[in-house]
Amino acid sequence: MSRRRPTRAELAAHYAREWLAERDAAQTVPCPTCGVDVDETCQHLDGSGPLDRQPAHYRRIRAAADLAATRRTATGPRPPEPRSSPT
Ligand SMILES: [Zn+2]
Repeated sequence: MSRRRPTRAELAAHYAREWLAERDAAQTVPCPTCGVDVDETCQHLDGSGPLDRQPAHYRRIRAAADLAATRRTATGPRPPEPRSSPT
């Protein structure tokens, strides 16, 4: 099984999609780090404007992921998903 290496353009598109998806997901919760509300973009803590390299502060991304997991659990049985053991 030989996998073709993705081109730089394909990689860039892939990461751009993931980045936007991560920002969208993170913005479903307020940010515990910089304090912005739902649907607002995380701000640099030094006041220099919205985060640009990161989709959102790490704690916000984690909070959004935890919330999504809670919602899945609350609305029914969780689909079986292979989980890697925590390291
Ligand atoms: Zn933030």
